[in-house]
Amino acid sequence: MATHHTKMLIIGSGPAGYSAAIYAARAMLEPIVVQGLQPGGQLTITTDVENYPGYRDVVQGPWLMEEMQAQAEHVGTRMMWDTIVSVDLENGAPFKAIGDSGDEYIGETVVICTGAQAKWLGVPGEQELGGKGVSACATCDGFFFRGKKVAVIGGGNTAVEEALYLTNHSDDVTLIHRRDELRSEKILEERLMKNPKISVLWNKTVESFEAGEDGALGHLNLKDTQTGEASTLATDGAFVAIGHAPATELFKGKLPMDGGGYLDTEPGTPKTVIPGVFAAGDVTDHTYRQAVTAAGMGCMAALDGERYLAALEDAQEAAEAAE
Ligand code: NDP
Repeated sequence: MATHHTKMLIIGSGPAGYSAAIYAARAMLEPIVVQGLQPGGQLTITTDVENYPGYRDVVQGPWLMEEMQAQAEHVGTRMMWDTIVSVDLENGAPFKAIGDSGDEYIGETVVICTGAQAKWLGVPGEQELGGKGVSACATCDGFFFRGKKVAVIGGGNTAVEEALYLTNHSDDVTLIHRRDELRSEKILEERLMKNPKISVLWNKTVESFEAGEDGALGHLNLKDTQTGEASTLATDGAFVAIGHAPATELFKGKLPMDGGGYLDTEPGTPKTVIPGVFAAGDVTDHTYRQAVTAAGMGCMAALDGERYLAALEDAQEAAEAAE
């Protein structure tokens, strides 16, 4: 067991964490990134990435994250293969965190980048066909289904927005919802119902995802929640949009969160209510949820952390000069 000290402790290793690290390292803050259970985050379980700026050709999600990690290390980040299991933020700086390894991390600032995970249905075929027709992000993967049949599962804002977004690529979009009314905002519902490219299957659950002859998704097996009747829907793509779960269990009772468990920050900034503690990426963002927005927020957190430390130093010097 060891104790590690840093000016900036970054918890989580998706685009937000690595970007925070790159900026913090270049500002000589000698950051530590504690990577967590899934180093690289959500992008390590996707395949093609076509919307991260800087690459004219499609790149692979895991490769992109390896590059970000290597870049962060190259400029001086210490990467720890550990998972934070408890944090002490409420007693002010320096903040303490304990890793699964038993190691203790002491940070003058903390940037929380623990991300979020898409919720999945947990039915047969869903995992196996991930990246082969089944996805949890239309903005990321919709483009690959140009001119094809697609389905969206869910009845909240995300599902409706994803269905609407997919009409940019497909003329045949089906929304499948388990009840007979949507949970989404009325304005979105109106847009959905007015759109001739979208049809809605009410009171249906997806029982399984089945591959076609080419090994990619071929159809969905559905069940009517009222009658129990079974049916199938042929589709090339299926987008599961039943919500996300931010990884904020560690911070319950320590930092304010919204009803969905996302960390609250000062609007337009990554600042939490505790000075010196910042949150960036999907852990605080249920609206955009993109690698590039998470990276941007990570950068903002590192810059704000640097300013916070500089202001503390100035205040200390002024106090010493006044003595
Ligand atoms: P929500 O929790 O709002 O909706 C989830 C949807 O998935 C519900 O319709 C739910 O059905 C359905 N669902 C959940 N579990 C299952 C299951 N096992 N099988 C079938 N269906 C299931 O999640 P969202 O991601 O849509 O939204 C999360 C939050 O983010 C909300 O507060 C939302 O308003 C917000 N948001 C806001 C946006 C905006 O303002 N533009 C855009 C996107 C999200 P049921 O209705 O029956 O419970």
